[in-house]
Amino acid sequence: MLRPDFPDIIDYISRNSSSYTVNTNGTLITPKIAKLMKRKGVKLVSLYGATAEVHDHITRSPGSFDALMRGIAYLREDRVWFTVQVIPLKDNYGQLKDMVKLAKSLSGNYRIGVNWLYLSASRNAQRNTQIKSQRLSAEVVFSLNTPDISYNDWLLSTGQDSCRKKDDEFMFSGCVRESNSFHVDAYGKMSFCYFIKIPKLRYDLIGGSFRRCWEEFFPSLVVKFRFGRKYKNGCGVCQLRQYCQICPAYAYLEHGDFNSKVDYLCPIARKKRDFERRWKKEHRRYYNIAGVTIEVNSDEPISDSVFEAKFRKFEVNDPGDDMISIHHHFSSPNLMEYLGRECYNIPPWKIYENNGFWVYLESDSKRLCKVAVFNHDHTRVRIYHLDSNVLPKMSGHSLTLFPTDQILIARILADREAFYLHSCGVIFEGKGMLFVGHSGSGKSTMASMLKGEAEILCDDRIIVRRYRAGFRIHGTWSHGDVAEVSANSSGLAAVMFLRKAKRNRLIPVKDRKQIIGRMLPCIIRPFVCRDWWGKILPLVDAISENVDFYVMEFDKSGKILDELRKL
Ligand code: SF4
Repeated sequence: MLRPDFPDIIDYISRNSSSYTVNTNGTLITPKIAKLMKRKGVKLVSLYGATAEVHDHITRSPGSFDALMRGIAYLREDRVWFTVQVIPLKDNYGQLKDMVKLAKSLSGNYRIGVNWLYLSASRNAQRNTQIKSQRLSAEVVFSLNTPDISYNDWLLSTGQDSCRKKDDEFMFSGCVRESNSFHVDAYGKMSFCYFIKIPKLRYDLIGGSFRRCWEEFFPSLVVKFRFGRKYKNGCGVCQLRQYCQICPAYAYLEHGDFNSKVDYLCPIARKKRDFERRWKKEHRRYYNIAGVTIEVNSDEPISDSVFEAKFRKFEVNDPGDDMISIHHHFSSPNLMEYLGRECYNIPPWKIYENNGFWVYLESDSKRLCKVAVFNHDHTRVRIYHLDSNVLPKMSGHSLTLFPTDQILIARILADREAFYLHSCGVIFEGKGMLFVGHSGSGKSTMASMLKGEAEILCDDRIIVRRYRAGFRIHGTWSHGDVAEVSANSSGLAAVMFLRKAKRNRLIPVKDRKQIIGRMLPCIIRPFVCRDWWGKILPLVDAISENVDFYVMEFDKSGKILDELRKL
């Protein structure tokens, strides 16, 4: 904001970029800038003390607290959505509670931004001694900055945490190749990372162009800098590496070389590792349904008494190749960040789509109860329970704690050539059989008659999935009257449309139109299903061609089993 053309810059960025962050001490915000900051984008305003005395002492700039309050007043006047970053340091730590209180009063949105306190690139000894003197102990840093394990795991698994990559001999290959962001300083010097301060790693935009920087300069850095022996024998082989904040840029600011370890970070990494191991044991479970692992995380520990006993049959020890992730939170999300176009509104649910996110809101007659934020393909969801502070005990009849897990699973199945069918499924004499029909058609009656004779996969919902070898049916935990379920699966041999009668017989159905017409109403749909149908209809078509279908007339005598044995 020191630059006179800052309003032009922010105007351009807010019009042309998909996302950006303005990180400011707030002192130079003017009414004109506040108006521009009303546009989309993340705005972080730093607070270093609850009083002018402490804030100004930290910033070493008399009057900065008052200037910050003035800047914030302009933001509030224009109803700008901004986050106050409370920055705890040694000299303001005693005021932390008051700083949080003040931040809350200034903006509905605040966060405690524990600063890693990188040293100054100027390498000014006096300045760096001052910075070091403000570093908080590992215990305090850690307690204020508890890692979000499920988010970190996701970043790692999707290769988005380029800073923690260690299996490359080149220092910046991950940073450059996997990043889609960049930093430009106030002097027009562009870099792939904010913390890169070395002139030879920054590109002068004034004498060049953005395109040349992005397409030529950044890629040229990928193979220019190899890790040295010091790194290879130190951080490079450290068991704590994946828990550590170290990176060449940090090492450079600390020591003036890219390869040295940073002693300040070691005890913090150790604490992170211990926390992560404990957390995964107490807060995470894995379940497998139809070949998909569901990782369930919770802010609250997940005891054996949370989910109903039927889930134990589906519990597995490790994630599989195909995993989706649920995280239960017991706090409120920032809805303003997510709400976009409304695309579904049938009580109790409203669904919004925004920038690749899906936001599901569940309300009762009085209030909003749950908010679920899904990623674009529904493989990651954060569920915020506004109606509860804790995980319910023994009432967890679904892993999502929604009325049914179908809300999530029906969506992700479509991307795996699978769908839920309102049916009873069994493995009878080694063959997978489906009994299809709506409530009252006799699905639970069939499951009861087949008890002891067949393995019951589920009496009400079965997942049908296409594999290279053909269609298989998978058990689910969404049962009806018969509580017996199984995580097992079987090749699909025959599908029976149920018809209660006074006799027992199987009538083959060959007409594919008739088959499809009977199947479609029994397929369980997700809420928003425009694109979903496009994936499901070819599957239904294929199943009608490749599997045997029958109308099954049956009574309660059990004689129908003799007919089934003949298949
Ligand atoms: S800074 Fe310390 S904890 Fe981090 S990787 Fe290096 S040696 Fe390991």
